[in-house]
Amino acid sequence: MDSVSRKCQHCGTWNTGDSSHCITCQQLIDPIAIRQQEDEVRRIQRENNPPGWLDKVINRLKASRNPFVQVFVMMLRAAWFVYWVILSFIIWLVAATPG
Ligand SMILES: [Zn+2]
Repeated sequence: MDSVSRKCQHCGTWNTGDSSHCITCQQLIDPIAIRQQEDEVRRIQRENNPPGWLDKVINRLKASRNPFVQVFVMMLRAAWFVYWVILSFIIWLVAATPG
């Protein structure tokens, strides 16, 4: 009886047997192990890059179906836009003012 063959996604080598690593390039070929490795990478990225509290609040508000909340989110975006326009204007003013 043949043992399971797995094709390495990295170098294309067909690996037979129970090894979870490629015989040629030593990369993971076991799909479950690859999945676990990807989950682990994502988890580490999440921990290193936690969403800011503002992102969390906005995401929660966006998910809401309350029309008042949706209007509030729109106003928040508008305020954010105005804030950047004013900031750009001040920077331009400072840069344009001699001395
Ligand atoms: Zn390989």
